[in-house]
Amino acid sequence: MTSSSTPLAEQIAAVARARAELERAVFPRPAKPTVLAVANQKGGVGKTTSAVNLAVALAEAGMSVIVIDSDPQGNASTALGVEHRSGTPSTYDVLTGELTLAECLVQSPQVEMLKVCPATIDLSGAELELAAKTQREFILHQAITDHLAVNRHVDVILVDCPPSLGLLTLNALVSADRVVVPIQAEYYALEGLSMLIQTINRIREYLNPRLTIGAILLTMFDKRTNLSAEVAAELRAYFPDIVLDTVIPRSVKLSEAPSFGTSIFGHDPRGVAAVAYKKAALELAQRIAKVEESNG
Ligand code: ADP
Ligand code: MG
Repeated sequence: MTSSSTPLAEQIAAVARARAELERAVFPRPAKPTVLAVANQKGGVGKTTSAVNLAVALAEAGMSVIVIDSDPQGNASTALGVEHRSGTPSTYDVLTGELTLAECLVQSPQVEMLKVCPATIDLSGAELELAAKTQREFILHQAITDHLAVNRHVDVILVDCPPSLGLLTLNALVSADRVVVPIQAEYYALEGLSMLIQTINRIREYLNPRLTIGAILLTMFDKRTNLSAEVAAELRAYFPDIVLDTVIPRSVKLSEAPSFGTSIFGHDPRGVAAVAYKKAALELAQRIAKVEESNG
């Protein structure tokens, strides 16, 4: 670093270095398909942004990836550029048993290795419709299990959850091997977290013994504020092995990308946010591989 370099020049150089390192990185492929539920009952914390960009990063690294949009808002479907008008074959049809997952999956227009099960507004009625069904918590799990029985090449399935702990999130958590919890590095970040963890523990006890918290991902991190650093420090103190080292910076590019129907890798592939999501995806893949190893 020369004495004439500015903070901006240093930052640009750091991003370039991180990018070069990531280009050489090998993403370990999970030994068996892994289902990740991206969940947090708080809205606007970066669930969808994380589900979409982690999925694209993993798919670009050569993994076979499926995103199941399980939020009636269909934001993940929008961001991934797939049709989700009412009536489109979607997660709603999978949950009501009308269609199989394979019948709803559409190819991502941007990434070869990525398929999407879209969510339409029809899904907003699903929780009520399913309330009377027996085994209603296991519908998505059964659909995924059936799919994987004949599609063994799938590496990762990410389920984007709605901002509640209702039946849609419950189905995602019962299907999942791991939960990825995005947390916004701001005031009240920890509020509600204990409830989420309690819910996860209950599900592990009664419905899905495989379930673990795979990662806590700090989003919208603003390194100019003490607050972001304080939230990060507090989370790392409570959950030392769970919080990913990588944090996702606050970035206008990330919030713009969905309006172009694309991920950060289509919108600003060389910027800090793309580098951050790719790094987070690598860390996640490494953790999955490591836990598999220690489980034998
Ligand atoms: P959730 O799915 O948890 O409701 P979203 O991923 O939709 O959250 O994010 C909420 C809003 O914040 C969206 O408008 C999104 O574009 C924006 N956003 C998400 N992550 C970031 C970030 N790192 N920097 C800036 N804006 C972000
Ligand atoms: Mg969302």
